[in-house]
Amino acid sequence: MTVFILILLLILATVSAVYFYITKLSKDGAYSKLSSHLQDSNRLELEHYAKILAVMDEIDCAILSNASFEHVVGLLFSHVPSFIPCNVIAVAQLDKDPADPSSTLAATQDGKRHHLATGLDKSLKKILNEHANGYLVEPNETYASIAPLLGLGAKRILMLPLFRDAQLSAVLYLGFEENVQLVGDTRRISRYIADRLSVALTLVLREKSLYYQENFDEVTLLPNRRACRERLSFEISRAQRYKFKIAVLYISLDGFKKVNDATGYAGGDAILKQVGQRLQINLREPDLVSRFGNDEFVVILPNVTGTSGVSKVAEKLIEFLSHQFSYDEHQYFLNSNIGISVYPEDGLTVDLLIQNADTAMARVKAGGVERFMFHEANMNTQAISRLALERDLRKALNSNELFLVYQPQINLRNGKIIGAEVLVRWQHPSKGVIPPIEFIPIAEESDLIEQLGEYVRKMACMQYKTWQAQGIAPSRIALNVSSAELMRQAFTANFLALLQETGVHPSDIVLEITESLLLDVPGHVNTSLQHLRKQGMRIAIDDFGTGYSSLSYLAKLPFDVLKIDRSFLAEIDKPSANNEIVSVIIDLAHHLNKTVCAEGLENETQLEFLKARGCEAAQGYFLSMPLSVEAFEKFAIQNAQPKNS
Ligand code: C2E
Ligand code: MG
Ligand code: MG
Repeated sequence: MTVFILILLLILATVSAVYFYITKLSKDGAYSKLSSHLQDSNRLELEHYAKILAVMDEIDCAILSNASFEHVVGLLFSHVPSFIPCNVIAVAQLDKDPADPSSTLAATQDGKRHHLATGLDKSLKKILNEHANGYLVEPNETYASIAPLLGLGAKRILMLPLFRDAQLSAVLYLGFEENVQLVGDTRRISRYIADRLSVALTLVLREKSLYYQENFDEVTLLPNRRACRERLSFEISRAQRYKFKIAVLYISLDGFKKVNDATGYAGGDAILKQVGQRLQINLREPDLVSRFGNDEFVVILPNVTGTSGVSKVAEKLIEFLSHQFSYDEHQYFLNSNIGISVYPEDGLTVDLLIQNADTAMARVKAGGVERFMFHEANMNTQAISRLALERDLRKALNSNELFLVYQPQINLRNGKIIGAEVLVRWQHPSKGVIPPIEFIPIAEESDLIEQLGEYVRKMACMQYKTWQAQGIAPSRIALNVSSAELMRQAFTANFLALLQETGVHPSDIVLEITESLLLDVPGHVNTSLQHLRKQGMRIAIDDFGTGYSSLSYLAKLPFDVLKIDRSFLAEIDKPSANNEIVSVIIDLAHHLNKTVCAEGLENETQLEFLKARGCEAAQGYFLSMPLSVEAFEKFAIQNAQPKNS
């Protein structure tokens, strides 16, 4: 190696001397004379070495500037073929799983990159350990691990082992066409390149392990206190910008000291590891679990919407941590206490949020009754009452406490009934009638929305069929559907099956979807909506005007009816910008060939305004409150649409 470096230095010196001489001669106008004297082959050789040195310089610079291993490999891929006549270059990292396609990176003459899973045959491993300067695999030798490289067009392969701590850690492959002769210094230059690569790899790994030591806990392999604080700080800056809430859960284990004393440190470590795994299993991708200290863990839930979701996570974690832990054929039980702080209510900084979560955790420990608590006292009451409501709702779904009311939708041209919006109510055994606005969000955050939605649709369809049989059914009924339901792949098929079962035709239905859902509708939901429309069902955009749809986007959405949100109607009896907005929404819908239904019509002025602007339909207390079945039947008979309209 030293000899080789000396040779290279000598060549460099020669190149400089020749360059100096040439410049001098050219100044004297004598370059052409020298040029003719220089043997072509010598000049090419000098240029060749100068090029190699330049590339090596570039690689050294990249290594010194902490470039990634992939970047160093990329440099090789782009430069090496200009001084080594190879048609394939590959680098295999042996400490990666051989099935991992990123374990081997290869490049071919056409400049394409390939990720291969090569591994290394045992026999080749032995050979490479004995041939530190490289081994040339001739076409008559077959090894499974080089087959993928042969597939890329190499016939003879020079394998150069890379060692780290005296262990074979990677292999540099240079593939050649069959007739290429490896003349001159090719083998030595190849070895030199492999050495640079080895340095790069070692440095990158050392960096990685340093990073790992600084940011991860070695017992649980979870992010440590430092990483947790860094992540929280990042989430706070995002939350500031996008107005999110963040929850910080400070978890401490009760009784861990006893377990540690009984099992020794090895046992304690094993159980902490299991705790970390259980926490991880129960959280989603953007959440962070970290080991904060001895028996303390901190979980960050970025982008939470309210306290109920957070309490559910806390309940779930407590439940999972209460199951037995095993070590050395013995079982142990731990209790956990969780204190919760929420950004921005409980603090705007990392320190404050963690400190407040910690204080709340201490209160849980001291109280000995609740297993988790929010820092803010009224959040505890909110969380507890929401959890209680969820439990009651679960029961309500099985004990017929939900019932439906129907709000007539009126044709504004003739004042007759055109449809009915189905609205769900909950007759709570002790709290009386609860409006949907209080329990639909709870159903949406839990797994109850599907059952609730199916129940409402089934009752509504059966009722509609009865009215059809009695000859008093309005032209159609409008059903609200939650985005959580619509997102489920099976929604469309299940709904169409229900219609078939109850004998209701898809064209009898208007599906009301809130504007905010349609703003970000995934591909499969769009397809489902198109499919339902093909069957004759209408789609209405509910609460239009609250979701900030862009106009160009609106034109592409699969819908038939725009329902203007009632907030726009509220000020129609006074001069207000909202009057203009309502007019524009109506015109916009008509330009897009859609119809308009106004919601929340509460007085005559609004009615006259809407009629004058050509709005087709409306619903609201001025026309009718949402009605029970009996009241709706009377209303429908009195306001029946003439048969031929
Ligand atoms: P929405 O679909 O926009 O329903 C219209 C709401 O406006 C209803 O409230 C209705 O009672 C109310 N409303 C009607 N006319 C007037 C009026 O003149 N003035 C005022 N201030 N309000 C009026 P409700 O029944 O409390 O429903 C609230 C929301 O709950 C609904 O808004 C809908 O998003 C949701 N919802 C209701 N039933 C269901 C259901 O079965 N499934 C689903 N997923 N959501 C439902
Ligand atoms: Mg609605
Ligand atoms: Mg609405």
